[in-house]
Amino acid sequence: MKRILVTGGAGFVGSHLCERLLNEGNEVICLDNYFTGSKQNIEHLMDHHYFELVRHDITNPFMAEVDEIYNFACPASPVHYQYNPIKTTKTSVMGAINMLGLAKRVKAKILQASTSEVYGDPNVHPQPESYWGNVNPIGSRSCYDEGKRCAETLFMDYHKENKVKIKIIRIFNTYGPRMHPQDGRVVSNFIVQALKGENITVFGDGTQTRSFQYVDDLIEGTVRMMNTKDSFIGPVNIGNPKEFTMLQLADEIIHLTGSKSKITYLPLPEDDPMQRQPDISLAKKELEGWEPKISLREGLKSTIDYFDQLLS
Ligand code: NAD
Ligand code: UDP
Repeated sequence: MKRILVTGGAGFVGSHLCERLLNEGNEVICLDNYFTGSKQNIEHLMDHHYFELVRHDITNPFMAEVDEIYNFACPASPVHYQYNPIKTTKTSVMGAINMLGLAKRVKAKILQASTSEVYGDPNVHPQPESYWGNVNPIGSRSCYDEGKRCAETLFMDYHKENKVKIKIIRIFNTYGPRMHPQDGRVVSNFIVQALKGENITVFGDGTQTRSFQYVDDLIEGTVRMMNTKDSFIGPVNIGNPKEFTMLQLADEIIHLTGSKSKITYLPLPEDDPMQRQPDISLAKKELEGWEPKISLREGLKSTIDYFDQLLS
Protein backbone atom coordinates (compact mmCIF):
# COMPACT_ATOMS: atom_id res chain seq x y z
CA MET A 1 0.00 0.00 0.00
CA LYS A 2 1.28 3.46 -0.95
CA ARG A 3 0.32 6.76 0.67
CA ILE A 4 -0.59 9.14 -2.15
CA LEU A 5 -1.29 12.87 -2.14
CA VAL A 6 -3.68 14.18 -4.82
CA THR A 7 -3.78 17.98 -5.03
CA GLY A 8 -6.97 19.25 -6.63
CA GLY A 9 -8.52 15.95 -5.55
CA ALA A 10 -12.01 17.41 -5.14
CA GLY A 11 -12.07 18.62 -8.75
CA PHE A 12 -13.43 16.92 -11.85
CA VAL A 13 -10.35 14.86 -12.80
CA GLY A 14 -8.89 14.70 -9.27
CA SER A 15 -12.00 13.03 -7.84
CA HIS A 16 -11.82 10.24 -10.44
CA LEU A 17 -8.13 9.81 -9.67
CA CYS A 18 -8.72 9.56 -5.89
CA GLU A 19 -11.37 6.90 -6.56
CA ARG A 20 -9.07 4.87 -8.81
CA LEU A 21 -6.14 5.01 -6.37
CA LEU A 22 -8.33 3.97 -3.42
CA ASN A 23 -9.77 1.08 -5.46
CA GLU A 24 -6.21 -0.10 -6.07
CA GLY A 25 -5.73 -0.38 -2.30
CA ASN A 26 -3.77 2.81 -1.64
CA GLU A 27 -4.13 5.39 1.11
CA VAL A 28 -5.16 8.73 -0.43
CA ILE A 29 -4.82 12.25 0.94
CA CYS A 30 -7.03 14.58 -1.09
CA LEU A 31 -5.99 18.22 -0.83
CA ASP A 32 -8.15 21.03 -2.21
CA ASN A 33 -9.11 24.67 -1.59
CA TYR A 34 -12.56 24.11 -3.22
CA PHE A 35 -12.15 26.96 -5.71
CA THR A 36 -13.64 24.91 -8.55
CA GLY A 37 -13.94 21.55 -6.82
CA SER A 38 -16.53 20.45 -4.28
CA LYS A 39 -17.11 17.99 -1.48
CA GLN A 40 -19.95 16.48 -3.54
CA ASN A 41 -17.38 15.15 -6.02
CA ILE A 42 -15.78 13.03 -3.30
CA GLU A 43 -18.77 12.50 -1.01
CA HIS A 44 -18.90 8.82 -1.97
CA LEU A 45 -15.29 8.36 -0.77
CA MET A 46 -15.66 10.04 2.63
CA ASP A 47 -16.41 6.84 4.56
CA HIS A 48 -13.48 5.02 3.02
CA HIS A 49 -11.06 3.96 5.73
CA TYR A 50 -8.01 5.06 3.73
CA PHE A 51 -9.33 8.39 2.44
CA GLU A 52 -8.37 11.69 4.06
CA LEU A 53 -9.54 15.15 3.03
CA VAL A 54 -7.54 18.31 3.71
CA ARG A 55 -8.65 21.89 2.96
CA HIS A 56 -5.45 23.56 1.85
CA ASP A 57 -4.22 25.99 -0.79
CA ILE A 58 -1.08 24.78 -2.56
CA THR A 59 0.27 28.31 -2.83
CA ASN A 60 1.19 27.64 0.84
CA PRO A 61 3.66 24.91 1.86
CA PHE A 62 2.24 21.56 2.96
CA MET A 63 3.91 18.73 4.83
CA ALA A 64 2.93 15.06 4.86
CA GLU A 65 4.86 11.80 4.64
CA VAL A 66 3.80 10.44 1.25
CA ASP A 67 5.20 8.09 -1.40
CA GLU A 68 3.66 9.76 -4.45
CA ILE A 69 2.13 13.13 -5.36
CA TYR A 70 -0.26 13.81 -8.22
CA ASN A 71 -0.27 17.61 -8.67
CA PHE A 72 -3.68 18.40 -10.21
CA ALA A 73 -4.64 21.57 -8.31
CA CYS A 74 -5.39 24.39 -10.77
CA PRO A 75 -8.59 25.69 -12.34
CA ALA A 76 -8.76 24.30 -15.88
CA SER A 77 -11.67 26.09 -17.54
CA PRO A 78 -10.86 29.44 -19.22
CA VAL A 79 -13.75 31.13 -17.37
CA HIS A 80 -12.39 30.01 -14.00
CA TYR A 81 -8.68 30.49 -14.59
CA GLN A 82 -9.28 34.00 -15.97
CA TYR A 83 -11.45 34.96 -12.96
CA ASN A 84 -8.32 35.70 -10.90
CA PRO A 85 -5.39 35.37 -13.32
CA ILE A 86 -2.69 36.27 -10.78
CA LYS A 87 -3.93 33.55 -8.47
CA THR A 88 -3.90 31.09 -11.39
CA THR A 89 -0.22 31.77 -12.06
CA LYS A 90 0.52 31.55 -8.32
CA THR A 91 -1.24 28.19 -8.13
CA SER A 92 0.82 26.77 -11.01
CA VAL A 93 4.17 28.29 -10.05
CA MET A 94 4.15 28.57 -6.24
CA GLY A 95 2.09 25.38 -6.08
CA ALA A 96 4.73 23.55 -8.11
CA ILE A 97 7.53 24.91 -5.90
CA ASN A 98 5.71 23.83 -2.72
CA MET A 99 4.86 20.37 -4.02
CA LEU A 100 8.32 19.80 -5.49
CA GLY A 101 9.83 20.95 -2.18
CA LEU A 102 7.67 18.39 -0.39
CA ALA A 103 8.64 15.66 -2.89
CA LYS A 104 12.31 16.48 -2.38
CA ARG A 105 12.02 16.43 1.40
CA VAL A 106 10.12 13.15 1.73
CA LYS A 107 11.65 11.55 -1.41
CA ALA A 108 8.28 11.12 -3.09
CA LYS A 109 7.68 10.63 -6.80
CA ILE A 110 5.67 13.54 -8.24
CA LEU A 111 3.50 13.79 -11.36
CA GLN A 112 2.52 17.12 -12.87
CA ALA A 113 -0.81 17.63 -14.66
CA SER A 114 0.40 19.85 -17.47
CA THR A 115 -1.68 20.70 -20.50
CA SER A 116 -1.97 20.90 -24.27
CA GLU A 117 -2.17 24.68 -23.65
CA VAL A 118 1.64 24.68 -23.47
CA TYR A 119 1.42 24.40 -27.28
CA GLY A 120 -0.77 27.56 -27.44
CA ASP A 121 -2.36 28.13 -30.85
CA PRO A 122 -0.20 25.52 -32.57
CA ASN A 123 1.24 25.84 -36.04
CA VAL A 124 2.44 22.22 -35.98
CA HIS A 125 -0.39 19.73 -36.31
CA PRO A 126 -0.89 17.26 -34.64
CA GLN A 127 1.25 18.29 -31.70
CA PRO A 128 4.20 16.06 -30.68
CA GLU A 129 5.97 16.61 -27.35
CA SER A 130 8.99 17.98 -29.21
CA TYR A 131 6.99 21.02 -30.41
CA TRP A 132 7.76 24.13 -28.32
CA GLY A 133 4.46 25.85 -28.94
CA ASN A 134 3.05 29.17 -30.02
CA VAL A 135 1.96 30.93 -26.83
CA ASN A 136 1.06 34.58 -26.30
CA PRO A 137 2.84 35.58 -23.05
CA ILE A 138 0.59 38.61 -22.36
CA GLY A 139 -2.93 37.54 -23.40
CA SER A 140 -5.96 36.44 -21.41
CA ARG A 141 -4.94 32.75 -21.52
CA SER A 142 -1.33 33.48 -20.51
CA CYS A 143 -1.88 33.11 -16.74
CA TYR A 144 -2.73 29.47 -17.34
CA ASP A 145 -0.48 28.67 -20.32
CA GLU A 146 2.66 30.34 -18.99
CA GLY A 147 1.98 29.17 -15.43
CA LYS A 148 1.85 25.58 -16.66
CA ARG A 149 4.95 26.09 -18.85
CA CYS A 150 6.87 27.49 -15.87
CA ALA A 151 5.69 24.55 -13.75
CA GLU A 152 7.19 22.17 -16.34
CA THR A 153 10.47 24.12 -16.12
CA LEU A 154 10.46 23.82 -12.33
CA PHE A 155 9.79 20.08 -12.52
CA MET A 156 12.71 19.58 -14.93
CA ASP A 157 15.06 21.70 -12.80
CA TYR A 158 14.17 19.98 -9.50
CA HIS A 159 14.83 16.73 -11.32
CA LYS A 160 18.19 17.86 -12.74
CA GLU A 161 19.40 19.75 -9.66
CA ASN A 162 17.88 17.74 -6.81
CA LYS A 163 17.24 14.32 -8.37
CA VAL A 164 13.53 14.54 -7.58
CA LYS A 165 11.66 11.72 -9.34
CA ILE A 166 9.27 13.49 -11.69
CA LYS A 167 6.68 12.70 -14.37
CA ILE A 168 5.00 15.25 -16.64
CA ILE A 169 1.80 14.58 -18.60
CA ARG A 170 0.28 17.04 -21.07
CA ILE A 171 -3.47 16.54 -20.88
CA PHE A 172 -5.68 17.35 -23.89
CA ASN A 173 -9.35 18.38 -23.52
CA THR A 174 -10.97 15.92 -21.13
CA TYR A 175 -14.66 15.61 -20.26
CA GLY A 176 -16.97 13.37 -18.26
CA PRO A 177 -19.17 13.13 -15.18
CA ARG A 178 -18.41 15.59 -12.33
CA MET A 179 -17.54 18.48 -14.61
CA HIS A 180 -19.05 21.57 -13.04
CA PRO A 181 -22.32 22.52 -14.81
CA GLN A 182 -21.26 26.20 -14.86
CA ASP A 183 -17.70 25.31 -15.70
CA GLY A 184 -17.78 27.17 -19.02
CA ARG A 185 -15.98 24.44 -20.96
CA VAL A 186 -17.50 23.47 -24.23
CA VAL A 187 -18.72 19.92 -23.51
CA SER A 188 -20.47 20.82 -20.24
CA ASN A 189 -21.86 24.07 -21.73
CA PHE A 190 -23.36 22.35 -24.79
CA ILE A 191 -24.84 19.45 -22.78
CA VAL A 192 -26.41 21.70 -20.14
CA GLN A 193 -27.79 24.01 -22.85
CA ALA A 194 -29.18 21.06 -24.83
CA LEU A 195 -30.82 19.50 -21.78
CA LYS A 196 -32.41 22.83 -20.79
CA GLY A 197 -33.55 23.53 -24.37
CA GLU A 198 -31.47 26.73 -24.43
CA ASN A 199 -29.48 28.01 -27.42
CA ILE A 200 -26.15 26.22 -27.98
CA THR A 201 -23.45 28.91 -27.82
CA VAL A 202 -20.86 28.30 -30.53
CA PHE A 203 -17.97 30.75 -30.29
CA GLY A 204 -16.63 32.02 -33.63
CA ASP A 205 -17.81 30.12 -36.70
CA GLY A 206 -17.43 26.74 -34.96
CA THR A 207 -14.74 25.46 -37.33
CA GLN A 208 -12.06 25.46 -34.62
CA THR A 209 -11.17 21.92 -33.53
CA ARG A 210 -10.48 20.06 -30.31
CA SER A 211 -9.80 16.38 -29.57
CA PHE A 212 -11.95 15.17 -26.69
CA GLN A 213 -10.84 12.50 -24.25
CA TYR A 214 -13.16 10.72 -21.84
CA VAL A 215 -11.99 10.97 -18.23
CA ASP A 216 -11.52 7.19 -17.73
CA ASP A 217 -8.96 7.10 -20.55
CA LEU A 218 -7.05 9.98 -18.93
CA ILE A 219 -7.01 8.28 -15.52
CA GLU A 220 -5.66 5.07 -17.05
CA GLY A 221 -2.88 6.96 -18.87
CA THR A 222 -2.05 9.01 -15.76
CA VAL A 223 -1.67 6.02 -13.45
CA ARG A 224 0.35 4.13 -16.04
CA MET A 225 2.65 7.15 -16.37
CA MET A 226 3.25 7.29 -12.61
CA ASN A 227 4.22 3.60 -12.72
CA THR A 228 6.75 3.86 -15.57
CA LYS A 229 10.47 3.33 -14.91
CA ASP A 230 12.17 6.28 -13.16
CA SER A 231 14.17 7.17 -16.27
CA PHE A 232 11.01 8.02 -18.23
CA ILE A 233 9.92 11.46 -17.06
CA GLY A 234 8.02 12.79 -20.09
CA PRO A 235 6.53 15.15 -20.97
CA VAL A 236 4.03 12.85 -22.60
CA ASN A 237 0.75 13.77 -24.33
CA ILE A 238 -2.37 12.10 -22.94
CA GLY A 239 -5.36 12.71 -25.16
CA ASN A 240 -7.68 11.27 -27.77
CA PRO A 241 -6.42 11.98 -31.29
CA LYS A 242 -9.91 11.98 -32.82
CA GLU A 243 -10.47 15.62 -33.77
CA PHE A 244 -13.85 17.42 -34.10
CA THR A 245 -15.03 20.92 -34.95
CA MET A 246 -17.21 22.66 -32.36
CA LEU A 247 -20.09 22.50 -34.85
CA GLN A 248 -19.72 18.71 -35.11
CA LEU A 249 -19.72 18.52 -31.31
CA ALA A 250 -22.87 20.66 -31.09
CA ASP A 251 -24.64 18.48 -33.69
CA GLU A 252 -23.68 15.28 -31.88
CA ILE A 253 -24.94 16.59 -28.53
CA ILE A 254 -28.22 17.81 -30.07
CA HIS A 255 -28.64 14.38 -31.66
CA LEU A 256 -27.85 12.39 -28.48
CA THR A 257 -30.08 14.50 -26.21
CA GLY A 258 -32.90 14.76 -28.78
CA SER A 259 -32.93 18.47 -27.91
CA LYS A 260 -34.79 21.18 -29.84
CA SER A 261 -32.01 23.67 -29.06
CA LYS A 262 -30.74 25.88 -31.90
CA ILE A 263 -27.18 27.00 -32.47
CA THR A 264 -26.33 30.64 -31.77
CA TYR A 265 -22.99 32.22 -32.70
CA LEU A 266 -20.99 34.37 -30.25
CA PRO A 267 -17.61 36.09 -30.73
CA LEU A 268 -14.49 33.92 -30.52
CA PRO A 269 -12.56 34.66 -27.29
CA GLU A 270 -9.05 36.15 -27.51
CA ASP A 271 -6.23 33.72 -28.41
CA ASP A 272 -8.63 30.79 -28.76
CA PRO A 273 -6.56 28.04 -30.44
CA MET A 274 -7.87 27.14 -33.91
CA GLN A 275 -6.86 23.48 -33.85
CA ARG A 276 -5.67 20.89 -31.38
CA GLN A 277 -4.86 17.22 -31.75
CA PRO A 278 -2.37 15.16 -29.76
CA ASP A 279 0.31 13.01 -31.31
CA ILE A 280 0.16 10.06 -28.90
CA SER A 281 2.93 7.87 -30.34
CA LEU A 282 5.14 8.43 -27.30
CA ALA A 283 2.36 7.48 -24.87
CA LYS A 284 1.60 4.32 -26.84
CA LYS A 285 5.26 3.34 -26.77
CA GLU A 286 6.04 4.13 -23.14
CA LEU A 287 2.72 3.37 -21.41
CA GLU A 288 2.39 -0.28 -22.39
CA GLY A 289 0.32 0.38 -25.49
CA TRP A 290 -2.04 2.81 -23.76
CA GLU A 291 -4.53 4.47 -26.08
CA PRO A 292 -7.98 5.95 -25.57
CA LYS A 293 -10.73 3.33 -25.67
CA ILE A 294 -13.91 5.38 -25.29
CA SER A 295 -15.45 6.98 -28.38
CA LEU A 296 -16.91 10.48 -28.26
CA ARG A 297 -20.43 9.10 -28.65
CA GLU A 298 -20.02 6.62 -25.80
CA GLY A 299 -18.39 9.20 -23.50
CA LEU A 300 -20.97 11.85 -24.28
CA LYS A 301 -23.79 9.42 -23.44
CA SER A 302 -22.44 8.85 -19.89
CA THR A 303 -21.79 12.56 -19.45
CA ILE A 304 -25.30 13.45 -20.65
CA ASP A 305 -26.77 10.90 -18.17
CA TYR A 306 -24.75 12.54 -15.38
CA PHE A 307 -25.96 16.07 -16.18
CA ASP A 308 -29.51 14.85 -16.74
CA GLN A 309 -29.62 13.49 -13.17
CA LEU A 310 -27.86 16.54 -11.77
CA LEU A 311 -30.32 18.98 -13.35
CA SER A 312 -33.50 17.01 -12.60
P1 NAD B 1 -11.10 21.39 -11.95
O1 NAD B 1 -11.21 22.88 -11.93
O2 NAD B 1 -12.36 20.59 -11.88
O3 NAD B 1 -10.16 20.88 -10.77
C1 NAD B 1 -9.13 21.63 -10.21
C2 NAD B 1 -9.14 21.40 -8.70
O4 NAD B 1 -8.05 22.13 -8.12
C3 NAD B 1 -10.42 21.94 -8.04
O5 NAD B 1 -10.91 21.01 -7.11
C4 NAD B 1 -9.96 23.23 -7.35
O6 NAD B 1 -10.75 23.57 -6.24
C5 NAD B 1 -8.53 22.88 -6.99
N1 NAD B 1 -7.64 24.04 -6.83
C6 NAD B 1 -7.52 25.11 -7.66
N2 NAD B 1 -6.59 25.96 -7.17
C7 NAD B 1 -6.11 25.40 -6.01
C8 NAD B 1 -5.15 25.80 -5.06
N3 NAD B 1 -4.47 26.97 -5.19
N4 NAD B 1 -4.92 24.99 -4.00
C9 NAD B 1 -5.60 23.83 -3.84
N5 NAD B 1 -6.54 23.40 -4.71
C10 NAD B 1 -6.79 24.19 -5.79
O7 NAD B 1 -10.28 21.04 -13.26
P2 NAD B 1 -9.90 19.62 -13.90
O8 NAD B 1 -10.46 19.59 -15.26
O9 NAD B 1 -10.23 18.53 -12.96
O10 NAD B 1 -8.33 19.77 -14.05
C11 NAD B 1 -7.44 19.16 -13.13
C12 NAD B 1 -6.00 19.39 -13.58
O11 NAD B 1 -5.80 18.85 -14.89
C13 NAD B 1 -5.60 20.86 -13.66
O12 NAD B 1 -4.28 21.02 -13.20
C14 NAD B 1 -5.69 21.17 -15.14
O13 NAD B 1 -4.83 22.21 -15.52
C15 NAD B 1 -5.28 19.84 -15.75
N6 NAD B 1 -5.82 19.71 -17.11
C16 NAD B 1 -7.15 19.42 -17.30
C17 NAD B 1 -7.65 19.34 -18.59
C18 NAD B 1 -9.10 19.02 -18.86
O14 NAD B 1 -9.50 19.05 -20.01
N7 NAD B 1 -9.90 18.68 -17.87
C19 NAD B 1 -6.82 19.59 -19.68
C20 NAD B 1 -5.48 19.91 -19.44
C21 NAD B 1 -5.00 19.95 -18.15
N1 UDP C 1 -16.56 27.05 -26.95
C1 UDP C 1 -17.76 27.29 -27.60
N2 UDP C 1 -18.86 27.49 -26.84
C2 UDP C 1 -18.84 27.45 -25.48
C3 UDP C 1 -17.63 27.18 -24.82
C4 UDP C 1 -16.49 27.00 -25.60
O1 UDP C 1 -17.81 27.33 -28.83
O2 UDP C 1 -19.92 27.63 -24.88
C5 UDP C 1 -15.34 26.80 -27.78
C6 UDP C 1 -14.12 27.62 -27.36
O3 UDP C 1 -14.14 28.88 -28.00
C7 UDP C 1 -13.00 26.73 -27.83
C8 UDP C 1 -13.56 25.31 -27.68
O4 UDP C 1 -14.96 25.46 -27.59
O5 UDP C 1 -12.72 26.97 -29.19
C9 UDP C 1 -13.04 24.59 -26.44
O6 UDP C 1 -13.25 25.44 -25.34
P1 UDP C 1 -12.98 24.98 -23.83
O7 UDP C 1 -13.17 26.20 -22.98
O8 UDP C 1 -13.77 23.78 -23.53
O9 UDP C 1 -11.45 24.51 -23.81
P2 UDP C 1 -10.09 25.11 -24.39
O10 UDP C 1 -10.36 26.30 -25.24
O11 UDP C 1 -9.30 25.45 -23.18
O12 UDP C 1 -9.55 23.99 -25.18
